[in-house]
This record gives sequence, C-alpha cells and structure tokens, in this order.
Amino acid sequence: MRTLITGGAGFIGSHLCERFLAEGHDVIALDNFITGNRDNVEHLMSHPKFRVLVHDISEPIEFHELIDNVLHFASPASPVDYLEFPIQTMKVGALGTHVSLGIAKKHKARYLLASTSEVYGDPLVHPQTEAYWGNVNPIGMRGVYDEAKRYAEALTLAYYRQHKLDAHIIRIFNTYGERMQLNDGRVVPNFIYQALRGDPMTIYGDGSQTRSFCYVTDLVEGIYRLLFKDFHEPVNLGNPAEVTIKEFAEEIHKLAHSKSVYISKPLPLDDPKMRKPDIARAIEVLGWEPKVGREEGLRRTMAYFQEKMQKTGKL
Ligand code: UDP
Repeated sequence: MRTLITGGAGFIGSHLCERFLAEGHDVIALDNFITGNRDNVEHLMSHPKFRVLVHDISEPIEFHELIDNVLHFASPASPVDYLEFPIQTMKVGALGTHVSLGIAKKHKARYLLASTSEVYGDPLVHPQTEAYWGNVNPIGMRGVYDEAKRYAEALTLAYYRQHKLDAHIIRIFNTYGERMQLNDGRVVPNFIYQALRGDPMTIYGDGSQTRSFCYVTDLVEGIYRLLFKDFHEPVNLGNPAEVTIKEFAEEIHKLAHSKSVYISKPLPLDDPKMRKPDIARAIEVLGWEPKVGREEGLRRTMAYFQEKMQKTGKL
C-alpha cells in the first residue's frame, strides 16, 4: 500500500509516517515546510519506502504511481502559527483539502481529514460530542483555522456523498508529544521550555480554562483504526482527562523540578474556556481509548525537549 501524508514533516504527520512505515506501507510525506521541520523526518530518510516531497498541497499536483490512502494533515496548527500565516491556513484548509480530496478520488483511495476540536469554537456544550455544531467566531483571530476546518469537513462529506469517496474525519483534541516545535507557542512547549529553563511560566488569563491533553501515539492509533473502518461521520479523538491550565502548569513545574515563578498574561481573544472530548463514538466505532496518562506522556515529551534544548544551546 502507498500512503500520502500531507504535512508529513509536521508534528503529528511525522508520527504517522513512522506508523505507516512500520505497517509496511510506502509513505510519501508531502510538506511545504512553513511549519513542518526536516528534523522531524530525518531519522526516516534512509528508509527505502519513505520519501519527502516538497510541495504546497494548496497547489495542484499529480501522482503517477497509485496511491491507496491520503491523510490530509497539512496546516499550521497552533494559534501562534495560524495568526502568523492566516491566509496559508485558510488556503490549506480549503484549497489543500480540495486538492487532496481530488487525489483520493482519482486514485480511489481511502481519505482521512485531520479536523479539530476548534470546530466547536468556545463550546457551550461540555464535554463536546460530535453532534454539537459549535460556537465559532468566524471573524476572530482563530476564525481562519476554525472556519477552514469546518469548510474542510463539509467538503469531505460532499465527496463522500457525491463521489462515494471512502472518506473519514477526525476531530483532534490538544495532542502533544515528541517533535512539537519548541517555539510553536502552544501551552505544552511553552510550559516545558519555561519550566526547564527556570523562566517564568506564562499563564494566560486566570488559568481556570480547561484542556484535555492526548499523547501522540494514542492519537495515531485512533487514526490508523478509523482509516480502515466503514464509518464516515466525524470522530472525536482525544483524552478526556480534563485539567485547568493552572493545574497543568503546576504538574509540569513539579515534573521538571523547576524553580520557575508563574506570571499572568492576557487571555488571547476567543480562547475556549473549556474543552473535553466525549469519546463514546471512538470507543464504540474503533474500540479505541487513550492509554498513555499525562504524567507518562509529559515525561517522554520533556525528555525530548530537554535533549533538543541542550543540543541547540538553550539549556
Ligand atoms: N496558554 C497559557 N500559556 C501559554 C500558552 C497557552 O496559559 O504560554 C493557554 C491558552 O490560553 C489556552 C491553553 O493554554 O487556554 C491551550 O493553548 P494552546 O495554544 O496550547 O492551544 P488551544 O487549545 O488554545 O488551541
């Protein structure tokens, strides 16, 4: 089988490349490297079944070899990144989804769209089930990401309904792990970086907002299972263990034996007040549940950041 992964040199994309190679697939990682990083796939470069293609999936591309699976993971994915690249974020969610769906249609391939819990916006329903339509500000700073992903979901389902494409949609909830970018501005890299260096830990707002953090290998397992199922509605993938951002900061502080102080920074606009996946559907359809707890996941992630920071002179 040959599997095309857009955003294959990104954080989640690179873990998917590893997994599909381990399953014996030929893997093409397509990336334009605006937020992806060559380091993420360096260890795979000598694998005979792996190749990297430098391309922006928002632009058309043809493959002459047969593709069996298309996984569309290309997109800036942290609030800081999609504020820096608002137009590319909209383009990759809209045009990039269209191009990648077109590839899947031509090759009669399975298709999987990486959507997001951001489609629920600042949710008024808690925990979030797939049936909830969301509370999104379309013209806020996050709108470029949220609306692009909502459009991407609609387009994917249109391809399923009209072209009978074997399409799947996951909604990813705050996933973390090795190969997140140190400077992507998300809470996990920020807190770990700050705690390890003893820099002040930046809590946005009063820290009472909640998130539910999923370790990357758990997410990848859910993705792999859904791709081969006859199920086409969106599926939440995340870890329902919910925590406030303040408590989360304290957990990382403790694990790092940190000397950092906590400082308060303004809460970004439209920052969701709470987020927790209802994973009943994933349990039922995929027989899937996350396995790696926060302490274990954070230890592994911290070890990765520590090594990376030492290598680059940041520690
Ligand atoms: N956050 C924080 N300090 C930071 C970075 C983020 O308190 O240095 C908060 C942010 O306001 C949000 C949560 O942590 O409430 C998660 O933010 P992240 O950027 O990781 O992603 P989001 O879940 O908002 O998409």
